[in-house]
Amino acid sequence: MSKRMICGAFVLVCSVTASAQPRVDLALINGTVITVDAGNSIAQAVAIGGGKVVAVGTTAEIKARAGRGGRVIDLAGKTVIPALISTHGHPGFQRGLTYEASNFTRETVMNDLNRALYFGFSVVQSQGIESGEVMYQIRADQAAGTLGGARLLVAGRGIGAPNAGPGGPTYAGIAYEITTEAEARRAVEELAAKKVDIVKIWVDDRNGRAPRLSPALYRAVIDEGHKRGLRVNAHVFYHVDAVDLVEAGIDGLVHMVRDLEMSDALIAAIVKRGVYVNGNMSSPRRATHVGNPPWLTPADPMLRLLKESVAPEVIARMEAAFGKRDPKAAGGARQRYAILERSLAKLSAAGAKVVLGADTGLEDHLFGLAEHLELQAMADAGMTPAQALVTATSRAAEYLHLADRGSLAPGKRADFLVLDANPLENIVNARKIGRMFINGVEIDRPALRAQIKY
Ligand SMILES: [Zn+2]
Repeated sequence: MSKRMICGAFVLVCSVTASAQPRVDLALINGTVITVDAGNSIAQAVAIGGGKVVAVGTTAEIKARAGRGGRVIDLAGKTVIPALISTHGHPGFQRGLTYEASNFTRETVMNDLNRALYFGFSVVQSQGIESGEVMYQIRADQAAGTLGGARLLVAGRGIGAPNAGPGGPTYAGIAYEITTEAEARRAVEELAAKKVDIVKIWVDDRNGRAPRLSPALYRAVIDEGHKRGLRVNAHVFYHVDAVDLVEAGIDGLVHMVRDLEMSDALIAAIVKRGVYVNGNMSSPRRATHVGNPPWLTPADPMLRLLKESVAPEVIARMEAAFGKRDPKAAGGARQRYAILERSLAKLSAAGAKVVLGADTGLEDHLFGLAEHLELQAMADAGMTPAQALVTATSRAAEYLHLADRGSLAPGKRADFLVLDANPLENIVNARKIGRMFINGVEIDRPALRAQIKY
């Protein structure tokens, strides 16, 4: 029975219910609260108690709800959004200018998770380039409350055909290399025993270097995963593979197809089956720039975030890479990128469940940076800023089965950012992070910044 029904029928019960509501220990008033709740409502104020959102409403309502004794923050027109969620990262490989397998330590992974948090991302789903026990230990320590950073979700070792996993010597030997259905099922069984949060597969031929993962094998992975209550998401390149993966019951595509614009039939199938899709445009977009992109200029709040948290030689290397880019090559990249933009616009218009994924953690595609560039890429491709925000909040939480996160509705965790400007006016404003709260407790951002060493 809903509370409203109780109130309508029994006034006395209603008042008892109200007094039993959680205590409010923090109220934020006089702002714009973008709740990203089911109704996409905008409020002026939010009340927090016990680490959770207690109520959202007008400043007057929240002031009344807060009563005396609680802390009150006057937002003075600033904007509150839920903390952001990244569904496709590869932590642990970059340390300053180096990018190599030996960097994959607890310290490097935590450096990435701390930077993600500094940039407003409270959750990072790693996508399958994970060796050893490091990631599992971090996840356990975070769950126990003894370790900070963005909350890490793991996929463990991803699954592909021989030599078909993640490219390059840095990642060699990490993925499962399967050739039979029995191996496919055994890999999933091992991952289930490790309680991974999701299963990752690589399906394409990795630019001709490897065999494709055959439909029989990925069907076995999907079937075994679903039997064990695990969702399976796929790295995909070719349109033909995406069509069959959707047919086969894949839960998510962590890239759009890149050889063709997505057909109406494929998009309709994605929508019908509720498959989640990463835009994953920010990495290929980098190849389209000749000279510094806007986010490396002082007018963009990104440059400040980078200067605060990234070694100057890494920023210099990014600038040098853009500076020496061949205009002809960039022209080709722009044509390929335009295909992605058209597909994303079609997906969005059709109501597909797009979730923010940026392949974060590729070289110089740093945690926090990549995700904010992805938000901008989605908006530039035709999504409204509100739609882009949904991909990184409520829908990302839904995808990752984080029922208590992703919006600022009553009962949800009080994980939120206070922004100096409204991202619904310009998604770039999501980079103007003034304050951040996790579980209702303010993060000491200067102290967090001091922990980011590489
Ligand atoms: Zn990836």
